[in-house]
Amino acid sequence: MENNNILIYTELTDEYGIKDVSLQLISKAFELKQKLNNSKIIACILGPDIDYSLIIRKLEELPVDDVIIASSSELSEYNYCYHPEVFTGIVKKYEPSIVLIGATVQGKEIASYCASKLETGLTADCTGLNITNEGCLLSTRPTFGGQLTADILCKTRPQMATVQENIFKIVPQPKHNVNIIYENIQTCCIENRLKKIFSEVKTSSSVDVTKADIIVAGGLGACKDNGFELIKKLAQKLNAAVAGSREAFEKGYITKSQQIGQTGKTVSPKIYIAIGISGANQHLTAIKNSGKIIAINKDVNAPIFEHSDIAIKGDLFEILPELINKIGN
Ligand SMILES: Cc1cc2nc3c(=O)[nH]c(=O)nc-3n(C[C@H](O)[C@H](O)[C@H](O)COP(=O)(O)OP(=O)(O)OC[C@H]3O[C@@H](n4cnc5c(N)ncnc54)[C@H](O)[C@@H]3O)c2cc1C
Repeated sequence: MENNNILIYTELTDEYGIKDVSLQLISKAFELKQKLNNSKIIACILGPDIDYSLIIRKLEELPVDDVIIASSSELSEYNYCYHPEVFTGIVKKYEPSIVLIGATVQGKEIASYCASKLETGLTADCTGLNITNEGCLLSTRPTFGGQLTADILCKTRPQMATVQENIFKIVPQPKHNVNIIYENIQTCCIENRLKKIFSEVKTSSSVDVTKADIIVAGGLGACKDNGFELIKKLAQKLNAAVAGSREAFEKGYITKSQQIGQTGKTVSPKIYIAIGISGANQHLTAIKNSGKIIAINKDVNAPIFEHSDIAIKGDLFEILPELINKIGN
């Protein structure tokens, strides 16, 4: 009988932990599995020759059935020559029905390579996943510049999707045994066209937006005078991450990793404070999982107010200094 297995590319962090987006996908896969017959959840890890017991322990607390580990010294750092090819080989061998990958820089490259090699469809940057009555993967993604969402079915197999970070929640399961498969891979047959000359780890002074409990985000309205200085001061007082809209990124006030939205990060903080942000669909789609949204805007008709729990209507240059003062040290 044909399997309905769901294989998840389980991406490692630089410190050899598991990226949150992969844990989120494993949890979502459990929900999908309930609607499928003859289905297993397979976590696939590519990494260096290290002790994987801590990683396995983590996966034992998630709804994983099998873990495939492909390890070699060539896989210790992401390499666009090795990782996509090795992953494609594993997908070919295990023939899962569904392949889910986090829409990270690495994940997007691996997914597109794998889909083109296997001549199958790939729905990129999904914001929703479901199973149809016929047992097919239904992938939802933004379209028409984020104005609409499209539900996409794939006629070929495997059905592949990359999924944005923080769309799904990590739901731990009672600890259980998982089946570990060590996969023998021959990276020596793969041509390495990459020569490492120099590498530098860039550290950011700002709190990571995908992990922050509170985010203070600025939009075009704050991109003048000392708008972003006020935003950073408020963030510092609240121990919050600084973020912004695409306009703020394009004006150089934030980095790409601080941009929130369809082409930036998806976030789920307890509190999201949107300052001088109008509330375009492409921005709203990435903040809808926030606990509470507080908006400060001088336009009483700004769309952001329709999506906020607390609406502060007024000029940010008057409101922020007062707010920062009131919070104290
Ligand atoms: C394919 C595609 C992908 C996109 N991806 C993203 C994305 O990832 N993230 C994103 O953010 N956008 C994205 N956009 C752009 C998006 O459509 C909007 O253009 C953008 O979000 C607007 O940013 P903004 O709210 O900062 O600016 P604006 O829409 O110009 O809004 C500025 C707001 O500031 C308010 N304001 C001005 N001065 C003050 C003041 N003194 N006090 C208080 N309020 C003030 C104004 O009333 C206004 O509401 C994308 C667009 C497309 C087509």
